[in-house]
Amino acid sequence: PIEPWFISGPVIKGFGRGSKVLGIPTANLPAENFSDVVSEYTSGVYFGWAGLSTRGTYKMVMSVGWNPYFDNTEKTVEPWLLHNFGEDFYGEELRLAIVGYIRPEANFPSLESLIERIQEDGRIAEKALDLPMYAKYKDSPYLRNTL
Ligand code: ADP
Ligand code: MG
Repeated sequence: PIEPWFISGPVIKGFGRGSKVLGIPTANLPAENFSDVVSEYTSGVYFGWAGLSTRGTYKMVMSVGWNPYFDNTEKTVEPWLLHNFGEDFYGEELRLAIVGYIRPEANFPSLESLIERIQEDGRIAEKALDLPMYAKYKDSPYLRNTL
């Protein structure tokens, strides 16, 4: 179990790789806003709750790190919200409560194996967030605060 941590910011444009290459959209946040916080955390896959000011609160699974598959040079935070929105929400305020950790960052031999692992992470997050110890954070006031 980890101590929950909280970060927020406007959803910005990434490299367009999430949905276009992987079939898994990841909402990018401006990492420079909280690079000090993120640097404290081990690279890897986390899960928690995501609040979108005008929409609601959703389960999410998030990669923190350098994305070794793509050879990134900046430590990023990329939550995949486990909900089908059917549209983009760039510019909206996204607030995250990160409550659990699934696995360390890993490299994958193929895009197929990476996608399969992320889908599995999503199923793990989906189930774990129903456990009372994680579900209780859905009601964190932090998630509903707006600018
Ligand atoms: P980018 O590289 O710009 O982040 P992605 O291909 O990763 O592009 O897609 C992410 C964008 O898709 C988000 O910024 C958001 O506007 C939109 N989006 C739609 N549904 C979701 C979702 N379930 N989770 C995350 N982002 C989503
Ligand atoms: Mg993305």
